[in-house]
Amino acid sequence: MAVGIVVIHMSILARVCLANKRFAPNDVFAFVITMASQTQLTWYGHAAFKLVTPAGNVLLIDPWLTNPVFENGKDELAALKRVDAILLTHGHGDHVGDAVEIGKRTGAKLSSNYDLAEAMKLVLGYPAKQADNDTTGHMGGQLNLLNGDVSVCFVPAFHGSAVVKDDKSPPVYAGNPTGLVIAIRNGPTIYDTGDTAFFSDIARVSDYNKIDIMLVCIGDHFTMGPIRAADAVKAVNPGSVIPMHYGTFPVLTGTPEAFDRELKDRGVKTKLRVMKIGETITFPEHD
Ligand SMILES: [Zn+2]
Repeated sequence: MAVGIVVIHMSILARVCLANKRFAPNDVFAFVITMASQTQLTWYGHAAFKLVTPAGNVLLIDPWLTNPVFENGKDELAALKRVDAILLTHGHGDHVGDAVEIGKRTGAKLSSNYDLAEAMKLVLGYPAKQADNDTTGHMGGQLNLLNGDVSVCFVPAFHGSAVVKDDKSPPVYAGNPTGLVIAIRNGPTIYDTGDTAFFSDIARVSDYNKIDIMLVCIGDHFTMGPIRAADAVKAVNPGSVIPMHYGTFPVLTGTPEAFDRELKDRGVKTKLRVMKIGETITFPEHD
């Protein structure tokens, strides 16, 4: 729908431009195609992102919109009308976030590893028919979602994963944590590290996909900090990197500035893109 609106607006613009004879028809046509084929990425703070594919599908990753650093979280949550899939890296509350509420309201399919999906259904009440074998898999497997518009591969992450119903309940096993390699048709391939330590085999993630955008945890304390995150970026060698999972709580002390210094110290050529909370950027991005 959103893309359709863009195309309609662009076609009006094209007619206006042609009427003014300021652009050649081919230039305008190329502009329209470019606008219609962009992928949008929004950061909600912490590890929460929204992706809109060129075909108009809406995906959320680790959707904790009501986190402490996203002022508009409640409004944004209420405004979410269409969500096609929710992707989760692991079961901790700062990643599961508002997934169940969003899933119930929008009918979004849950995409995660099998154990986490089972825990989401049995412990937190995620709608069972929205979390079946069509969208849940496991480490090393590649799944095609949304009629092939998006493929997801679950890759290793070194962390923990348990789901907790409430403060009085014990944690429930939710399998291994994962990273996500998300390949968008006519769009970029995105590697979300999830919460992880540095591990040398992280370099092998890019053996199977050229990574255009890497979303990397830099907050330290529970995950990699700037030093190890810079080593991870050097190993993966993505086109650009977006830091996340920092500044949400006082103990998450890693900063984009320290991360930038560590990248420069290593001579890493990857472009650092620091997003503002609530910001949306489009890919391909133009300087
Ligand atoms: Zn976390």
